[in-house]
Amino acid sequence: MTTTVILGMLCVHLLCFAVMFLLISLRLNRKKMGTEAFALGNLMLGLAYILQLLGGPANWSLMSVINHTLTLGAPTAYVLGAMRFFGRPTPLLRPLLALAGSHTVAQILVQSWLGSEARHALLAGSCALLFLSMLVAALLGLRSFARDLRVEMLVFALLILGIFILNAVKFAMILGSGLAALDMGSGFQKIFYLYMSFLATVLPPCVVWLILRRLTDELHDLAAHDPLTHLLNRRGLTDALNAHFRSRTAGPAHLLIVDIDRFKWINDTHGHSVGDLVLCRVAATLKANARQGDLICRLGGEEFVIIALDTDRAGVMQLAERTRAAIEHCEVADARLNQPIRCTATIGGSDQFTGPHAFDEALQQADAALYRGKTSGRNRVEWA
Ligand code: GH3
Ligand code: MG
Ligand code: MG
Repeated sequence: MTTTVILGMLCVHLLCFAVMFLLISLRLNRKKMGTEAFALGNLMLGLAYILQLLGGPANWSLMSVINHTLTLGAPTAYVLGAMRFFGRPTPLLRPLLALAGSHTVAQILVQSWLGSEARHALLAGSCALLFLSMLVAALLGLRSFARDLRVEMLVFALLILGIFILNAVKFAMILGSGLAALDMGSGFQKIFYLYMSFLATVLPPCVVWLILRRLTDELHDLAAHDPLTHLLNRRGLTDALNAHFRSRTAGPAHLLIVDIDRFKWINDTHGHSVGDLVLCRVAATLKANARQGDLICRLGGEEFVIIALDTDRAGVMQLAERTRAAIEHCEVADARLNQPIRCTATIGGSDQFTGPHAFDEALQQADAALYRGKTSGRNRVEWA
């Protein structure tokens, strides 16, 4: 009776969270992060347990065959969902239908050759293998695809370890004592379904937490970057500069404003989309010439800011001249253009500054120097 109540509650949990994942997947219309697969997995497992409540686990019946197929299909759907979450474009329905077909055929063959015990052992053994591979993947993910989610992956690995052990023990018990191992009144089944209930309660909020983390990370990223050039925008630059100066070992910074010369002419002559291409090319040139760790930002329009960190005046002068020359020499080629076009930029540099409070002053200094550069012929570097 206790196990039946636990199983009933487990069905309610699974189906409620299936609806929750479905609703989340409908909200995430661009990047669903595997939520549709998690919804399907929960639905399949919920239905499997409903069939178990209705038919009992050990009968050789169509209901039992479907139950086993759904029980194995659910963790498979979770794996596919996890792959989608980690950005691998993974089909969902085809692998699930292939698994359903092959496991149904396997069940019929095993049942007719080896009997019911072997069919139940097949399910427990297949689940154990599947959870073992999930466990290995979660542990490997700690060093590769899920490096930013170490604590979360460790929690998942621990939870999966539990369900792997329970399925392995179930497999061994069926081989040892036959179908008696599946008696709903047995202590083992109580523990098994209690643990499943625990998982069904704990895992969905964990997955929702992961989705929330990814969404908020993406939002921060979007808020900090310029969508055209993918450089930092002004907000991202301010945050990065604050983070730099929070470090005790932070040295002084120098600010350069880079402004493309006669950019309006490029737009007017070749069109706005070619203008955008030039902006992207200049952005790439700035990145290629700055040192790793320097901050590069598109301030707006055709104006960029480079903040050279931990360098002296001589270093930043070299950087400014190198950048100016690189922009002058780069060519922008495109099918829309008869021949590649070139552009130049004028650069204004500030004095060194040692804290985020001095950023605005450094910007004004560099802007004044830039203005001087523009009025004295462009394509040059001027200093505050
Ligand atoms: P100067 O040498 O004095 O800097 O002249 P300029 O033409 O570069 O400067 P101006 O400020 O007159 O023109 C900047 C132009 O940049 C005007 C604006 O239409 C264009 N612009 C601003 N943002 C974008 C953008 O995102 N894409 C494109 N293609 N053009 C942009
Ligand atoms: Mg300009
Ligand atoms: Mg300008």
